[in-house]
Amino acid sequence: IEETLVLVKPDGVARNLTGEVLRRIEAKGYSITDLKMVQAQRALLEQHYAEHEGKPFYEPLVEFMQSGPIVAVRVAGQRVIEGFRSLAGATDPTAAAPGTIRGDLGRDWGLKVQQNLVHGSDSPESAARELALWF
Ligand code: ATP
Repeated sequence: IEETLVLVKPDGVARNLTGEVLRRIEAKGYSITDLKMVQAQRALLEQHYAEHEGKPFYEPLVEFMQSGPIVAVRVAGQRVIEGFRSLAGATDPTAAAPGTIRGDLGRDWGLKVQQNLVHGSDSPESAARELALWF
């Protein structure tokens, strides 16, 4: 069975959308197999977002991810990596399709970083790496 890392980012936690995100994961039929709330340290976020180092949104992203608690979730199911990314929708919440987490619940706030409520691993390699970092 495949596993992925889902993060409810600080904007999602602050807006009390943790339950809504978990509800959608469970309603789809995936299993939550581990979960915790954390105040992420910078070192963890630098590792998590290593591929984006040097991009213009990198520093705002790392700052934003430290702005409040994050809920980290281990989710299991057949093809769950692809499936959760489909549930989450496009990175830009304005462009994300209605029916997705970002499309239904997110919007652009005119900030330097897309505050798009959730993260989901994008490949089996990323999932293994990220789950080892967060759990
Ligand atoms: P997706 O892979 O669907 O784009 P993601 O969350 O994995 O979603 P990444 O491309 O890995 O997105 O980028 C990580 C995060 O950085 C995004 O979720 C978003 O918060 C932020 N981000 C990405 N691209 C931009 C951008 N062009 N401007 C501002 N913030 C961005």
